[in-house]
Amino acid sequence: MHVLVISDIHSNLTALEKVLSVAGKYDAVWCLGDIVGYGPDPNECIAVVRDLPNLVCVRGNHDAATLGEVDQHTFNHEASIAISWTKRVLSAESQSFLLQLPETEKMDTVTLVHGSPRNPVWDYVMDYMTALRMFQFFDNQICMLGHTHVPAFWVENESNSKKNLVLDFQKKPIQGRVIVNPGSVGQPRDHDPRASFALFDTEKLTWELRRVEYDIESVQQRIKKAGLPWRHAMRLQEGW
Ligand code: ZN
Repeated sequence: MHVLVISDIHSNLTALEKVLSVAGKYDAVWCLGDIVGYGPDPNECIAVVRDLPNLVCVRGNHDAATLGEVDQHTFNHEASIAISWTKRVLSAESQSFLLQLPETEKMDTVTLVHGSPRNPVWDYVMDYMTALRMFQFFDNQICMLGHTHVPAFWVENESNSKKNLVLDFQKKPIQGRVIVNPGSVGQPRDHDPRASFALFDTEKLTWELRRVEYDIESVQQRIKKAGLPWRHAMRLQEGW
């Protein structure tokens, strides 16, 4: 089975549609949370995600905050403004979709979470040392997570993984236990503004990171029109 793995769409419909249009043939989509937050298209993004084939999706911290399940003050001021705006515009339908998302999804060989297997919604796994501690919190072979908006591929007990950034776009065979991050569709933070996603082959056990350019300007215009913080528009351009 060919799986498209996406994360951190953050209400960026233009990036999401671009990713879906270049991903090729896939049988299923796994989404690692934060469909909403920051961007101008929460309902539109949820409507697209909801209809993706064989969707498996977990809840992110912005999704949870939009549902009012966490104290918004744990977010920085501008993120919090976007969460309040999203709460206001979110349709009842979108809200019920977010409400039914689980925090963790455990399949045969793969565990899906937004943040980390220890604290699925909130933890950040930014580096190899942190990743190493996380292997004890899931018991199958592969953990897929997002939240940092930075692609990563960490192999348990492999010192080469210390350089966590995935800068090669080759299909990588998965051997042993790994923690992988497909990066962010709608707000990349590794100084590469292109939308980030991954293709996972469940039979051959391969992981392929991909990046694609999209029309950032049109998203910036909608951010402006919605009255969302301009900083969120600026950062898209440079990928931070
Ligand atoms: Zn996020």
